[in-house]
Amino acid sequence: MMNRGLLAKVLFEIPVAKPFDYLVPEGLVLETGSYVLAPLGKRMAVGVVWKIEEAEIQSKSRRLKYVSSVFPTRPMGDDQRKFIDFVGKYSCAGAGRVLRMCLPAADALAPAADMPVIIAGKNTPKQMTKARQKVLDKIGNRAWRVTELAKAAGVSGSVIQGLIKLGALQRTLQQVDENFATPDPDRQSVELTPSQQETANELVGKVMQQCFSTILLDGITGSGKTEVYFEAVAEALRQHPDNQVLILLPEIALTQDILDRFAKRFGAQPAEWHSDVIGRQRQRVWRQVASGQARIVVGARSALFLPFAKLSLIVVDEEHDSSFKQEEGVLYHARDMAVVRASMAGCLIVLASATPSLETLHNAKSGRYGHLALQNRPGSSRLPMIGAIDLKQHPPIAGRWISEPLRKAMENTLAQNQQVLLYLNRRGYAPLTICRACGERIKSPNTDSYLVEHKFSGRLVCHLTGFSMAKPAICPACKAENSLHPVGPGVERLAEEISILFPEAVCEVFSSDITKTPEQIRNLISRMQAGLIDVLIGTQMAAKGHNFPNLTLVGVVDADMGLGGADLRAAERTYQTLTQVAGRAGRSHLEGIALLQTHQPEHEAIDALLARDRQRYVDAELGLREQMGFPPFGRLAAVIVSASSEKIAHQAALDFAALAPATAGDIEIWGPSEPIFAVVRGRWRRRLLVRSSKKTDLSGYMLDWRNKYRAGNKVQIKLDIDPYSFL
Ligand SMILES: [Zn+2]
Repeated sequence: MMNRGLLAKVLFEIPVAKPFDYLVPEGLVLETGSYVLAPLGKRMAVGVVWKIEEAEIQSKSRRLKYVSSVFPTRPMGDDQRKFIDFVGKYSCAGAGRVLRMCLPAADALAPAADMPVIIAGKNTPKQMTKARQKVLDKIGNRAWRVTELAKAAGVSGSVIQGLIKLGALQRTLQQVDENFATPDPDRQSVELTPSQQETANELVGKVMQQCFSTILLDGITGSGKTEVYFEAVAEALRQHPDNQVLILLPEIALTQDILDRFAKRFGAQPAEWHSDVIGRQRQRVWRQVASGQARIVVGARSALFLPFAKLSLIVVDEEHDSSFKQEEGVLYHARDMAVVRASMAGCLIVLASATPSLETLHNAKSGRYGHLALQNRPGSSRLPMIGAIDLKQHPPIAGRWISEPLRKAMENTLAQNQQVLLYLNRRGYAPLTICRACGERIKSPNTDSYLVEHKFSGRLVCHLTGFSMAKPAICPACKAENSLHPVGPGVERLAEEISILFPEAVCEVFSSDITKTPEQIRNLISRMQAGLIDVLIGTQMAAKGHNFPNLTLVGVVDADMGLGGADLRAAERTYQTLTQVAGRAGRSHLEGIALLQTHQPEHEAIDALLARDRQRYVDAELGLREQMGFPPFGRLAAVIVSASSEKIAHQAALDFAALAPATAGDIEIWGPSEPIFAVVRGRWRRRLLVRSSKKTDLSGYMLDWRNKYRAGNKVQIKLDIDPYSFL
């Protein structure tokens, strides 16, 4: 029996690159992109229709199953499906695993249902307690789930149950998806300077062309890049009532500030998307992005995989930031993939930075990207002076980290009631704990990394695996008592030193261990902005994006840190970070200064920074990369082989290396070698590095290679295209 029928090719969120064939039951209306439920093995699974075709169907010879049902969600757009296919191929992860990043929990695929919620009641409780007041302060006009309200108010569920009994809260059923308020593009709140306006006009012109192009917005710290790209956002909103805009940021810590500025400029809060947006809120954002109701999304790299209905502008802010590289699961670089996504959506993408990556600068120089520069700070604000303190001439006393010239500068600044930022990218109290009796360095179990002491929590923590333990009273190796001694500074130890040097000063630490939630971050930033903090000690979290008008002195405690790494971008990253940190100073009419404590003031990156000569530094660094054929002049891929024992890992790496497909000679392979972290969580690791020219399809080559290798279940092979980590 043969008859013609409809065949749906459905992609599932499983590690299989290709869609499966299904029959379409009569009466079920499907389109390409429809989200469907279909039997997969023994379970029902959510998938997306990749293609529909008419085909000869032999009903008996092929036991095809039927699609079961279709979700009432707007089908995934062509551009997103193409994007998923592209990322799947480019990252070697396969389309199925990329789809997993695009699908929400199944609940989000159905419309928001009526749910039991709590709203404000009519009565005021006669006995008011602190906890009750907290709840009533929070409730406002909206509907809450009980657990959500308890969490937001910081009280237990029983407080809420109590208030319901008293009639101060009321139970009801409501559809809980609130719409996002519509942003108003013409609500002007900031006056642009003539040069900002000129740059904004160029961006607006590009948005009006409604086609794919990439622009580097290259503006010094404090030049008003955000205000300028907001004008492009406004134009995209004006152009069509369905247009959507995505703003990507490297870190959650930065989203609060952008959200606030956005609300000021457009009179509405954008949708927010990152790992801290969870549960019902996450479903709400996903649904409203899919329906087109949420017009602006501000988010971390995963926002790139949201189901935009009509994406019309992407902005990647701080485009140079290496946190855009995802290092777990599907390995991809969100900036690079954002450019691909924009090309498929046919829209403008703006890459903004004060310290653009060499890759982007190279693309701008070669004409692939447009290049707009903002060279001035508005008004009377100037870039800070940058000076070096040579630690060979001014060594701090033993056990201290602040040199005399930096201490003096701090004293002057504090005497004028201005603020100081000390930058040290080391979390915790001390990066190393050594036993004075036997010399033991305390390591993380089954991992090649030293434990970092955290005094706040009294624990030793592994920053690589997250392992932690209470600081032991005796040495685990020789059992000596009181012999464990902290070595080197972390931000917490620096805070101790400041309390000795400046006992009167209010000093706080800005680090992911201490300011964890968006609320804590926001709180700290507003205390700093209000002048309630004299000395802020920060890790890289404090380095980027923030605007502290009364901050006039930035002290970089260890400018050499990171320069020596085994990483091709080490110098580039140091240059970028130090420029960003220095750029925190003098952002108002007050003059700012940045002082770098260094042992090697003559190092190219530091010297160029002192001379404020970016071009010289960029040219030198690009020259070096070109000689080696490294990005942006060539492509790189890494192979990470891991296994439960060193012997197996080593042999597997050799076996894998031996299978490298032959080529015309464009491919170079280094390794296998033992990485810096040779053991992580009890798994032994080996690495290979592969280089090719720009014109080679390196992803295709790597995939062919991996497909030749039959890994036993003890061995794991991870491919990392465009690696950023070399550890
Ligand atoms: Zn010992």
